[in-house]
Amino acid sequence: MKRFKEGLEKGAIMLVDTTLRDGEQTAGVVFSNREKLRIAKMLDNLGVHQIEAGIPIMGGDEKQVITEIASYGLQASIMAWNRASIEDVKSSLECGVDAVAISISTSDIHITNKLRTSREWVLENMTQAVEFAKKAGVYISLNAEDASRSDIDYLIKFAREGQAAGADRLRFCDTVGVLEPFRTYEVVSRIIEATGMEIEMHTHNDFGMATANALAGIKAGARLIGVTVNGLGERAGNAALEEVAMALKFLFGVNLGVNTKDFLNLCEYVARASGRPLYPSKPIVGTNTFAHESGLHADGVLKNPNTYEVFSPEEVGLTRQIIIGKHSGSKAIKMKFEEYGIDLSDEEAADLLAAVRSHTVDMKRTLFDKELMYIYEDYLYEKKKPPRLG
Ligand code: MN
Repeated sequence: MKRFKEGLEKGAIMLVDTTLRDGEQTAGVVFSNREKLRIAKMLDNLGVHQIEAGIPIMGGDEKQVITEIASYGLQASIMAWNRASIEDVKSSLECGVDAVAISISTSDIHITNKLRTSREWVLENMTQAVEFAKKAGVYISLNAEDASRSDIDYLIKFAREGQAAGADRLRFCDTVGVLEPFRTYEVVSRIIEATGMEIEMHTHNDFGMATANALAGIKAGARLIGVTVNGLGERAGNAALEEVAMALKFLFGVNLGVNTKDFLNLCEYVARASGRPLYPSKPIVGTNTFAHESGLHADGVLKNPNTYEVFSPEEVGLTRQIIIGKHSGSKAIKMKFEEYGIDLSDEEAADLLAAVRSHTVDMKRTLFDKELMYIYEDYLYEKKKPPRLG
């Protein structure tokens, strides 16, 4: 909790990780309690400011593991998720968390079709739940579900009444991922202007813009970003922790103080625990993010990594790879052989390059180092072979 409190006092930009709540809501994903505990510790070591640990009203294992996470005395604040119901909040308080998220829909689509009620009912129930939590002295995030499709005037009214009841921030939920950065900037600016409230961005990736929308919210004055490891989450997922942190650092110059070197470890752990392997081109931690094959790129990176890399692979726990394949150039081939103590002449490199291209096209993939050595052996053998007699 200490890290979160200090961040609030300093007015820092902070990460709210919801891998254990929204991440686990992904269709087909379940974490074991051991995995949840491990992930919470890893997130805390990484430097995340707040961890949304789950939904206590579900009871059973879920409630037990949230209680255990809350008992560790982590640096991060531990938050539990609730509907706008006193029963839910009671259940969260029993877990010993220091923060609660109180969630209710604010869009007419949800109010009419899902809740089958009225805007007034939403305000009343929200107010009761927030007031109840406030009396218990916990930090309160008021979640406006489907905020991005809500009538803005009603949303502002909702935020103001929540604030009056004791909410500490508004979670602006792009529940179905329909925001784009320009609109995000406009809407979030307007809410901040009207309420002066602390805003957390909660963005989904349905159109591939979760990270961009989260950053647009920060530009507009939001200070908290809801994220999940690997962007795990319902449908196309949430804004990814590792993407948001690195984008803030390198595009906005905002250092969150997270141990980025642990990203690969954490991302691989969550990938295994969720049964969702990292795809090769996954931004920040995919195996391809620091692999260079094309001759021009490999040559550039070998001369100076800045030519084709914005940050060094070590910064996120990866290593650079020069891949030998169809698009390789002779410089990369020479470098590869040097790793094995073989100095190729220009002529040999050119011959081998032709052989490598032909092999990779036949096999439709890049080559392992061992295969390169076999090609080299064959090449030497062919060279020494006496010419065939007519
Ligand atoms: Mn969500």
